[in-house]
Amino acid sequence: TTSTVDTAQRARAVIPGGVNSGQRSLPDWPDLVVTQAQGARIVDGEGRSYTDYHAAFGPPLLGHNAPEVTAAVAAAGQRLDLCGVGVSSYEVELAETLAELVPSIEKVLLTSTGSEATFHALRLARAVTGRRLVVKFQGCYHGWHDSVSLNVISSPDRIGSPDPISAGILPEVLAATLVLPFNDVNAVHRAFAEHGDDIAAVILEPVPHNIGCVLPDQEFLSTLRRETERHGSVLVFDEVITGFRHALGGWQEISGITPDLTTLGKAIANGYPLGALGGRADLMEEFSSNPGSPVFFAGTYNGHPAIVSAALATLRILRTAPVHDHVFRLGDRIRTGLAEVMADVGVPAVVTGYGSVFVTYFMEGAPPRSYDDLLRNDAALFVGYRQRLREHGIFELPLNLKRSHVSYAHTDADVDALLEGTRAAVQRARQEATA
Ligand code: PMP
Repeated sequence: TTSTVDTAQRARAVIPGGVNSGQRSLPDWPDLVVTQAQGARIVDGEGRSYTDYHAAFGPPLLGHNAPEVTAAVAAAGQRLDLCGVGVSSYEVELAETLAELVPSIEKVLLTSTGSEATFHALRLARAVTGRRLVVKFQGCYHGWHDSVSLNVISSPDRIGSPDPISAGILPEVLAATLVLPFNDVNAVHRAFAEHGDDIAAVILEPVPHNIGCVLPDQEFLSTLRRETERHGSVLVFDEVITGFRHALGGWQEISGITPDLTTLGKAIANGYPLGALGGRADLMEEFSSNPGSPVFFAGTYNGHPAIVSAALATLRILRTAPVHDHVFRLGDRIRTGLAEVMADVGVPAVVTGYGSVFVTYFMEGAPPRSYDDLLRNDAALFVGYRQRLREHGIFELPLNLKRSHVSYAHTDADVDALLEGTRAAVQRARQEATA
């Protein structure tokens, strides 16, 4: 049986918390059993169809199960299998494509996840600089590993309570991370003045998307570039979300600020498990297997033929079809439309985002610039609104501060339905929040 109740019950018996990925400890985590995902739609255990704006946290920029990508995976499966030695022409083509598209990338390595990419980036930075400290920013999330303090405070729900994200990480690892406020140029200057000679790397989401969507000041990014250059620290752009989604060359293409290293994932293979770490040739060469090389690199599934084929198919479509035109146009329609609806029904809201990403913060004033601004967001209304949307056939993760995504498979009619559903859902959520 695939019914939601049965499956969720079976899941809780054999999978901790009943889900494989997600914040199972949160009360608002939805019981959802997905039996089918196609284009902009997901179908649950009862056969109910939803227009999906959660998009599995971001990979399917082309929509779920994009036919060309699925076909490329199947074809690769028939043609070649993982060999674990040597290199395939597919991997070379993908590496060449990434070097062509992403400004900072001269050489690149493939991983299976974004977490591995950020882990290896920081390991490399510490190895080549011989330094200890990593600077990260409040609200930025870089995956699961010990190498950077992940007490990320990605959600205000966590304030004042122990953050489970850092549970089990050695205190000395946590102590080797400086957590600064985003967009705060003075904090960056102070950190470098105090610790400059011990800062191995600065890592950031150039647009922090794990707290909705906070746009970076250009001066903030250029300050990071200048300070890291001056002090010999490695600047890492974690473009796992922004890569390909906002521009083929990521936020570094948009901002014109080129980091030393870049991490990629998510949209790179439209939903198949692929990450990448690339950057300056001299840094990346440290991973070479030459004798005496300081940094060893391996992974059983790195360069998996089916996954690499998924990425090649994805990038081919992104380069030849009007994907960005489409998602940027729908994203603009959604942002404008949502702001109108909120004003119409008299709910204070800031609707922001970039391109295919959108988020409604329930607060007054200007769009948030840092983590502290997000504390003004009405979390109950945010979560309640998204829970109510589901009754209108729209799926957005009912979790505070999570962004939404529109894909190439979404249509204008989907946007109309989102705006209409929002009008009813937000009014209902407000009634419940004030009841
Ligand atoms: N970096 C960023 C910016 C992310 O959003 C994520 C995942 N949400 C990661 C790294 C980790 O990627 P993965 O989940 O593939 O390990």
